[in-house]
Parts: sequence; C-alpha cells; structure tokens
Amino acid sequence: MATAGTETKRAAREALRDKRRIVVKIGSSSLQHASTGDLDYIRLEKLVRELCDIRNQGKDVILVTSGAIAVGRKAVGLREITEDDGERQMAVKQACAAVGQARLMMTYQKIFAEYNQVAAQILMTKNTIVDDLNRFNAHNTFTQLLRMGVVPIVNENDTVATYEIEIGDNDTLSAIVAALVDADLLILLSDIDGLYTDDPRQNPEASFIPQVDELTEELLAMGKGSTGSNVGTGGMNTKLQAARIATGSGVDMVIANSRDIGILHRILDGGQEGTLFVANREEGFDLPQFVSRLHRRQ
Ligand code: GLU
Repeated sequence: MATAGTETKRAAREALRDKRRIVVKIGSSSLQHASTGDLDYIRLEKLVRELCDIRNQGKDVILVTSGAIAVGRKAVGLREITEDDGERQMAVKQACAAVGQARLMMTYQKIFAEYNQVAAQILMTKNTIVDDLNRFNAHNTFTQLLRMGVVPIVNENDTVATYEIEIGDNDTLSAIVAALVDADLLILLSDIDGLYTDDPRQNPEASFIPQVDELTEELLAMGKGSTGSNVGTGGMNTKLQAARIATGSGVDMVIANSRDIGILHRILDGGQEGTLFVANREEGFDLPQFVSRLHRRQ
C-alpha cells in the first residue's frame, strides 16, 4: 500500500484549501437518530449551514443525500421492511422512497431557504450516465445550476431504479456525480473516521490510514466483506469503489466522520481529518463504461 511522508501529506491537505467545486455526500445513518430512526434536525441544520457557508466563499457545492427510503418508511409508520418476497420488498422500498424523497427535499428546501440559498433536486439512475444523451443533459443541467449559484441536491431515483441493483448506493453515486461535473473534491460523510487496516469495530488492533496515494489491489481487497452501518447501503467496500471512480477521474476524495459536521470546514482549511485519497487520473478511465458494469458481477 502506498503511503506518503509527513511533508507530502501536509502539502496534499493544504491543496484542499484551493478546491473550487465540492461534492458532499451524507448517508442515512448520519441523518437519523439511531434510537428512533427519525431525522436528526440539528445535524441536518448544521450540514446545510456549513454548505451555505462554503457557497458564500464562492465555491460550487453539490450535496448527495441518502435518506429517502428511511424517511419514507418512518412517514408511513413501517418499523422495518419485513417482506419475504423480493419483488414485494422492492415495491415497499420504492414506495417508501417516493414518500421520503419529497419529505427530505421539503426539509432541505426549508433550511437552505433560511440561509438565502436556492437548492434544486436531481434524481439519477444508472441510465443517466450510461446513455449518452441523458449524460449530456445531466451534465448541462448541473453546470447551469452551478452557474446560477444553486446547490443541486442529488439522490438515486429509487422509485424507478431497481434499488440495490442499479447504482445502489450513494457512495458510488456521489463519486459518479463528482466525475460528471469535474469536481475538485468529494467528501464522504460517514459514521466512521476514515479508512482503517481492518474494521475497528471488530478489531481493536486496526490502525487508521490518513492518506492513500494509490489505490492498490491490496487496499481494494481490504474493503471486501465490510458492511458498515445497517441503515444506508454503504460499507467500506462502496467507499473504496467511490475512491476508485473519484481518483481515477482526477477528483480528490476524503472520508470523514459526520459526528461533528464542522469537520467540513476543517477539511477545506487543510486540516488532517479523515482519510484523503489523492486524485490519480487514469488516462483510460471511462465513466459510462465503468457504470454500465456496476453490479453485473453479482
Ligand atoms: N438512495 C437511498 C435512499 O435515499 C440510499 C442509498 C444509500 O444509503 O447509499 O434512501
């Protein structure tokens, strides 16, 4: 595994101060109270305030948010989705997403408006990237929204995408968005501090990795089998897949703990927070082709 010396590490962090176009992803587990599954309004408000402040610094901001299914499930009073029949289970999830996405956006719109910030909704599927015309349109819409100073809020269109077999998780989606809009930095806010040599919840010997300069096979293999939280769909595996897309497309990526949302401005101030995956543009990296192969392997 390739790691860097202290000076190089400091320089890589300092470089984050100059990032202009930033994608931030927050997962369901970071948006909910673990005990009830209800939205954590304080965390949500802090997140939006941070994002508005980044906007006020003249940077472009895109938020990729999960939570549609979780919020919808609560709204219709389902404690758990217990259907045995796979098809029926999918329909329940998709119905929950239809309810929850609207609620989630209503909450975001309200808080963004409090800070005089305009927000927009973009819902994507695998086809948005794989189909040339759709990708072209999505790219133009994002670009225009950013030009107008609007914050695009993105999720997978779970009501029409066959959830869990299309893009399936928002770690991957956020990296795809970052690649599509030529972002400079992707920040994945998670319930973990960053990348460890092993799952720190199971193995106390696991050590923290502050910076990754090259995504080696050894590193990618480390994420396999890690499931992470059971609220969203992203474990470390999906985060490493996101890193593969982001760094391969020339985008730096940081995984950081959402416990304290203030971590966002500390990252953008060059602080040593979370794990930084340094961009490593791969000449032959083809986003539509990569996305078209997603989940075919399973
Ligand atoms: N798109 C899903 C939702 O909003 C979540 C996917 C994920 O957690 O990664 O509920």
